[in-house]
Amino acid sequence: MESLPNKTNKSEENSCAICLLMVCEPIKLPCSHIFCKYCLEKMKENDINNFFCPLCRRMIPLLFKFIVNKILENEYLSNNKENYQKRIDEIDSYRVVDGFFEKVKLFYGNYHEIVENKENNNHHQWKFFFKGEIKSKWKMKDLIKKVEVQLDPNFGGAPIILRDQPFELNRSGFDEFTLVFKIYWQKWLKMEPVSVEHHLNFDKSITKMAYILKFKKDIHKPIFNKI
Ligand SMILES: [Zn+2]
Ligand SMILES: [Zn+2]
Repeated sequence: MESLPNKTNKSEENSCAICLLMVCEPIKLPCSHIFCKYCLEKMKENDINNFFCPLCRRMIPLLFKFIVNKILENEYLSNNKENYQKRIDEIDSYRVVDGFFEKVKLFYGNYHEIVENKENNNHHQWKFFFKGEIKSKWKMKDLIKKVEVQLDPNFGGAPIILRDQPFELNRSGFDEFTLVFKIYWQKWLKMEPVSVEHHLNFDKSITKMAYILKFKKDIHKPIFNKI
């Protein structure tokens, strides 16, 4: 794709540091840096846990609302109406493609508490979890076949297979480590298994991270029998 020409200083000023094109639907972050609304939405979607300004790396609050700065938008429009309209059309076509995907927000992480243990050093009781949003129309069992959890070698080498909900694993230990869990999707999703790393956190009672499952809307969920 050819980028739009940056002939004047004005359009350089107006370029987005994510797509390197003219900012479209400008969003001004709390740090005052300006990006396209679409670029920020994509960035947040791809890694909701590390959502920061790409220029100054300041964290963007998760609750920050993407409200288009109309004053800036009018300025861009009056500077270069043709280019701005081109950008709007371009982004509209991206949004159409995005509409073909269904997105489901899932969560993983760990609970933690300190427990008394006179026999050994395993003072940290933890529970790994992988779950969906409570109000989601998607049930975990309709999406996920099984989860394989690979723990630290101290817990023995073989992965632990979680076939039933809730996908949880209780253990106690003496230190934090990074576990890897592999998600096997239900067959109808036609997706390869995905491995995700999670560093067990013992500083808080709960550590929760998000995982966005994205799949094409044109594949159909079979009818699941309710028991
Ligand atoms: Zn952009
Ligand atoms: Zn910034």
